[in-house]
Amino acid sequence: MTSPFQLAYIGLGSNLESPIEQICQALNELATLPLTRWVASSSLYASRPVGPQDQPDFINAVAALETRLSPLALLDQLQALEQQHRRRRQRHWGPRTLDLDLLLYGNDSITHPRLHVPHPHMTVRAFVLAPLNELAPALTLHHQSLSAWLEGIKDQPIERLTVSTREPNATI
Ligand code: ADP
Ligand code: MG
Repeated sequence: MTSPFQLAYIGLGSNLESPIEQICQALNELATLPLTRWVASSSLYASRPVGPQDQPDFINAVAALETRLSPLALLDQLQALEQQHRRRRQRHWGPRTLDLDLLLYGNDSITHPRLHVPHPHMTVRAFVLAPLNELAPALTLHHQSLSAWLEGIKDQPIERLTVSTREPNATI
């Protein structure tokens, strides 16, 4: 029996080695994941780093995918893409060529040593909420709208960029 498609939201971030190109390339790569259909991606956003401030600003986006991969299989694919972008985990919240977080997977709540969904920090990060709100303004998290969550962190600087991300071709 094949498993049904689930709607998953992926948060993307980069602040090293041409971050805009890293994110645009990663969006195209997400569109080619196995057992996965492309749905949509947000605009690109620029944000200040969380944690150590002695690093470049981040470029962020959120992608929506329909996938028949299990949550852990999807995480494996995301981590493989991070590795392809030569990501090295050095310091916590330090600079990175590509960070891919599984934000939401259907309505699932997942607590696993490798995976927490909904992503635990997403309600306090404008660089996740702003692009997610652009894609799915009707979503609620823990019974509160995205715009209400955003209102609580409006001190976090975030700028929507006008760069086009070119829609990847739909694939399965
Ligand atoms: P962060 O994204 O918080 O800066 P990392 O990308 O270095 O941190 O991820 C550290 C670990 O977080 C990964 O090894 C992964 O197994 C785990 N993890 C837990 N939940 C998630 C999730 N929802 N999406 C991505 N990684 C997750
Ligand atoms: Mg991550």
